[in-house]
Amino acid sequence: MCEHEVTEIMTCIICPNSCRIEVQYDPQDRKISRISFARCPKGVQWVEQEILHPMRTVCTSVRVLGGRDPLVSVRTSVPVPKDVIEKLMRFISTLQVEAPCHIGDLICRDPLGIEVDLIATREVTCRDAQFTKAGR
Ligand code: SF4
Repeated sequence: MCEHEVTEIMTCIICPNSCRIEVQYDPQDRKISRISFARCPKGVQWVEQEILHPMRTVCTSVRVLGGRDPLVSVRTSVPVPKDVIEKLMRFISTLQVEAPCHIGDLICRDPLGIEVDLIATREVTCRDAQFTKAGR
């Protein structure tokens, strides 16, 4: 074991067995030296992914102009590398879209140039549409 290596217990989220997998690795150069107690190869792959290239689907919200609600919830079309999430969130905080928004609408195409889009995950109707519906 080299001097920088650490040992971590990670709970696998791939299936309900929730194996507690032990991994020994060097966080500086991200080299894994040992993975133990995974009951199947999927758990080993998951740990390798988490240590070497962690990815997350980002769920957040974007400002809406003229909407019944001020925000529309969005998610990334695919998981993104964890180390670009901060940059992505800063960019998303500058975005605004016009109502109406529908579930599945493309809110922003590939904002970071890494082939990841932002997709709406809820409906936001126009403010005027609400007044019409309410008969005002
Ligand atoms: S290691 Fe395999 S069996 Fe264990 S939780 Fe992960 S996927 Fe399930």
